[in-house]
Amino acid sequence: MTSHPLNSPIHTLSNFQRLLRSLHLLSQTNNTMSQKKIILVTGATGAQGNGVASALLRDGKFHVRCLTRNAASQKARELEAMGAEVVEGDLDDINSLRAAVDGCYGVFGVTNFWEHFEKEYQQGKNLINVVREKVVQHFVFSSLPDYKALSNGKFAVPHCDTKAELERYAKYLQIPTTFIHIAFYYENFLSFFPPQLAEDGSYYFGFPQGETKLAMVTAEDMGPIVKAVFDNPQLYKNRTLGVVGEDRSCDEYAETMSKVLGKNIRYNHIERDTYASFGFAGAEELANMFEVQRLHIPSRQHHLDECLIMHPAMQSFESWLEKNKHLFFAQQKEAEPSIAL
Ligand code: NAP
Repeated sequence: MTSHPLNSPIHTLSNFQRLLRSLHLLSQTNNTMSQKKIILVTGATGAQGNGVASALLRDGKFHVRCLTRNAASQKARELEAMGAEVVEGDLDDINSLRAAVDGCYGVFGVTNFWEHFEKEYQQGKNLINVVREKVVQHFVFSSLPDYKALSNGKFAVPHCDTKAELERYAKYLQIPTTFIHIAFYYENFLSFFPPQLAEDGSYYFGFPQGETKLAMVTAEDMGPIVKAVFDNPQLYKNRTLGVVGEDRSCDEYAETMSKVLGKNIRYNHIERDTYASFGFAGAEELANMFEVQRLHIPSRQHHLDECLIMHPAMQSFESWLEKNKHLFFAQQKEAEPSIAL
């Protein structure tokens, strides 16, 4: 009787070795995956979250899971190509958040007031509740100061006040959190406050900030700061940080814009009441925001100083402008400012 070739001692041994090798390789792969702690990045297809996901992916220390409502979008696919795990979910859908947060060591949370308005609170609360339920070890949450409280109840600024309320809720639940107050984006000068052409051929931008310094930053730089926070939990858990790349007056920003963009650009102070009466959606909220900053936030230099220690390559307004100057005046329109800060 001839034995089957695969039953011969040699073949049995080599098959067994092959099996062992596959199991070993599999366990190595699993180890690499399980050795990497998982961080869920919400808003990963947007300005802040994309900065965070990109910085974490470039670094490679963490397994990066990105939350989006549409995994087929261009941005989601780009994240996947960079090595992210992209999962679908919605801040309105608590079960989708449970699935996304499952197994996570850390979560970066951001909510979008300008798409959902008063729903922002419930969405933030959904995320915070799931973070607590899943016992996430480090939550990093993009919040903002309480502008209503800063102005002793005089000026409501819901996109800030709601985030401050969420911050209080996470503190109440004693979640190990780092709260991040990101400054006014440089990118707002491309989208919402592009320099407007004046009759004399010069350009201007204007709002109620007066001569008080306006802290600004590129949303992209949220990334390296949040990476430093996740890398050093012992330093940053249970703290509030500011993300600031420049802290100067609007006259100084206008000077920098004139120099880099090669046009005569000036800043016009507009009184709060005048601005609030402009009538576009969100005019009053923005008027209040600038007014509170003008009266109650004289400087954020301490936030800038700390950011420069955490990430010495923080982009100044001038360096960001140099990189993005081709985007200015590309589609110059006489549009009134719209809202989305
Ligand atoms: P963004 O670029 O407009 O992107 C919004 C992100 O939120 C997208 O990734 C979107 O993901 C996600 N998203 C929206 N609704 C969602 C939902 N229901 N479930 C899950 N994900 C959802 O936003 P951003 O600028 O990074 O952040 C917005 C926040 O920044 C606002 O709340 C604003 O108040 C705050 N902020 C802005 C400034 C400023 O100067 N502009 C300064 C400080 C703070 P998908 O579409 O892929 O699902």
